[in-house]
Amino acid sequence: MRAVTVQPGVADSLGLVEDQPEPPAEEGPILVEALAVGICGTDHEIIAGEYGEAPPGADRLIIGHESLGRVIEDASGTLQPGDLVAGIVRHPDPVPCLNCAVGEWDMCRNGQYTEHGIKALPGFARDRWRIEPSFAVRLDPALAQLGVLLEPTSVVAKAWDHIERIGHRAEWQPQTVLVTGAGPIGLLAALLGTQRGLSVHVLDRATDGPKPELVAGLGATYHAVPVNDLPFEPDVVVECTGAPTVVLDVMCKAAPNGIVCLAGVSSGGRTIDFDAGALNRELVLENNVVFGSVNANRRHWTMAAQALARADQIWLESLITRRVPVNRYADAYTPGPDDIKVVLEFAS
Ligand SMILES: [Zn+2]
Repeated sequence: MRAVTVQPGVADSLGLVEDQPEPPAEEGPILVEALAVGICGTDHEIIAGEYGEAPPGADRLIIGHESLGRVIEDASGTLQPGDLVAGIVRHPDPVPCLNCAVGEWDMCRNGQYTEHGIKALPGFARDRWRIEPSFAVRLDPALAQLGVLLEPTSVVAKAWDHIERIGHRAEWQPQTVLVTGAGPIGLLAALLGTQRGLSVHVLDRATDGPKPELVAGLGATYHAVPVNDLPFEPDVVVECTGAPTVVLDVMCKAAPNGIVCLAGVSSGGRTIDFDAGALNRELVLENNVVFGSVNANRRHWTMAAQALARADQIWLESLITRRVPVNRYADAYTPGPDDIKVVLEFAS
């Protein structure tokens, strides 16, 4: 069968293997036919040789962590042939740590977790894969074209889950949400904000291309201005750019008792001048919370599946700006100027 692989740590080693062995039985009782794999920034970092780890004893890693497939067979009887399924990316560390021990692998404390297509587990960019029932998430049959968005949605479902847990430290009735960055994560974070009945604002640098229209399609408001020029103080911020100046600006812009969720990863190495004392004063005197959020556990995947099933399917489809057949994989992994989400398609 076919598989898209890299040699981790070696830039531009991306290649399509035509004679990849069938997935071994020890991967799990559920055999899945791949339908689609979504591509994100992590894949580009892996292809650049900056990230990624092959399974023990292998020199190549099958990439792809945003999965959608159809069950061929399930020896455990959990799923039925024909069911739509996505595979959970992260598996708990073997120790396990306090959090992995209770299924909170997204909160792993020792970093020894593994991840399909990223860290020591084969990915989903192959014609067939296997998975354990506890790491398989069944999707509504209506999501045959869109279920590939489940993994990025799980990441924002976790962010919102934690925002709400923090919010309920005191009486809390949030009204306005600011999302910075209108990429797939930002747009899905905005979707989940609108599903909560909140007034959603999305800030991005782009003044044309698909982003303003996608935001308007949610009934949210688009802003292409500096954070400090926004005419309101958000109760909640979901920061998805990782851009250092945006990160600092949103921390100061949040309303009293505001919650700032940092979901974008900065590259580091760039320094900017800022007044740490003034920031501290702002956070303390306004009871603000700034926290980081990454990955998702099974509960969040389930929340994400529900959010996708509730969403406007035409709007979700418009997030997928390119669908590329696997035999043109190199095109799929080459970024385009108006890309939001690019999907590699396996269906023959
Ligand atoms: Zn752990």
